[in-house]
Amino acid sequence: MSNKLYHSLWDDTNKVVFEPDSLEPSSSSSVVVIGGGILGVSTAYHLSRMGISTTLLEKHEIGFGGSGRNGGQVIPGLKYDPNVLDTMYGEETTKLVGEAADFTFQLIQSLKLDCQAEQKGWVQSTCKTKHLDMLAKRTEQWSKRGVKAELLDASEMSKRLGTEYFCGGWQDPRGGTLHPLNYVKSLACAAQQSGAKIITQAEVVKWHKTSPNRLELADGTRLNADYVVLCCNAYTDELQPDLKRSIIPAHSFQVATSQLTQEQLTNVLPTKVASSDTRRIGNYFRLSPDNRLMIGGRGSFREPNTTADFSELHNEISKIFPQLDGITCTHHWYGRVAMTADHLPHIHKLTDTSLSAIGFNGRGVALTTRLGEALAQYISKNTTLPMSIVPIKPFILHKLHPAYASIAIKYYRIMDSLES
Ligand SMILES: Cc1cc2nc3c(=O)[nH]c(=O)nc-3n(C[C@H](O)[C@H](O)[C@H](O)COP(=O)(O)OP(=O)(O)OC[C@H]3O[C@@H](n4cnc5c(N)ncnc54)[C@H](O)[C@@H]3O)c2cc1C
Repeated sequence: MSNKLYHSLWDDTNKVVFEPDSLEPSSSSSVVVIGGGILGVSTAYHLSRMGISTTLLEKHEIGFGGSGRNGGQVIPGLKYDPNVLDTMYGEETTKLVGEAADFTFQLIQSLKLDCQAEQKGWVQSTCKTKHLDMLAKRTEQWSKRGVKAELLDASEMSKRLGTEYFCGGWQDPRGGTLHPLNYVKSLACAAQQSGAKIITQAEVVKWHKTSPNRLELADGTRLNADYVVLCCNAYTDELQPDLKRSIIPAHSFQVATSQLTQEQLTNVLPTKVASSDTRRIGNYFRLSPDNRLMIGGRGSFREPNTTADFSELHNEISKIFPQLDGITCTHHWYGRVAMTADHLPHIHKLTDTSLSAIGFNGRGVALTTRLGEALAQYISKNTTLPMSIVPIKPFILHKLHPAYASIAIKYYRIMDSLES
């Protein structure tokens, strides 16, 4: 994030001042959380609210990973439909993941977190007539569960999104947007106020899974913990090599345009909903709090070198919003998303006194917020987790993932283009 070319819009507009704590040498804590993204910070916040002494260790800065770089779309649910989730995990889990966005907005409101949150709805849009049935079923299934979900035809999509590009979609009123870096930093401030110690520039390099757990930082500082929660998602490193190999760390690229004029704002996302499309390799877009169009999508596995590497996103702007053709993109950035083989997040029990949650498949803002509370309750009160604890299953030949995952992405793009 230090490279100016890839400086995110969030870095430029971040206004939350967060002061990290300092770590006493040879200190100990009931729970140590590793990773300062939304999952780690939400877990630390909820644990400390429950009166548990908690220390969070982050290798870089709060929000360095996906949590400070994402599209800020607060999306309820998982990628699977509610009926499928009921069968997989039971109705309670479907309810919990469905309510994750409401939970996030309520937390923001109750803690008065300064993160430009707006619950104006999330639209899943499609340019594929073949997907319309699937969206109708999704709308119906959520409606049956009391959600005011709306199925949208092409003309309604055009009214709400300001584009003729999509043949349909559905709107989930629980969704919305926020400024992700302000969100994760302001939640970190709230965690500190509840008593958590939050240490940045603190890379955990060694972890002896003894009782208590013994952790060592890159600068040699050591600390003990009765319980450890590993929250590093797509940034998981050699600290837990099998976990690192259990996900594909794919790149998501994003751009933001120059600020739209008042006239452009009347015909580009006039209802201010956030949106993602249904293609296998689709895009997501929204307006930023300072009225830019932001659009993101899957990028290459190699690090981008120039803004030309974002040309697909520039083209998507012209396709979806031809009224903005030729507009300048002022910000280009990217981050890693953790993809799993079954497109589901995975909770792993690493030992009797440690846990990890990983694999948010590009949809973690609401879910990690909600899961943070669930993990805290499980650790402190031994409540049931919303998802089953599963064994870690590393991908075979994980080192070759840039090659085989790139081939898979090309294949999915072809499949997308063949679909009407
Ligand atoms: C470009 C982009 C756009 C996205 N858009 C959306 C969106 O619009 N909506 C949505 O819901 N989701 C989106 N996502 C996904 C979402 O950002 C993630 O699911 C979510 O942020 C994951 O949070 P996390 O706390 O699990 O992990 P992260 O935020 O990635 O945090 C992990 C942290 O662990 C730290 N770490 C790693 N190793 C160590 C170590 N050894 N010691 C200490 N710390 C360590 C890292 O430095 C990092 O800060 C997007 C992701 C990206 C990259």
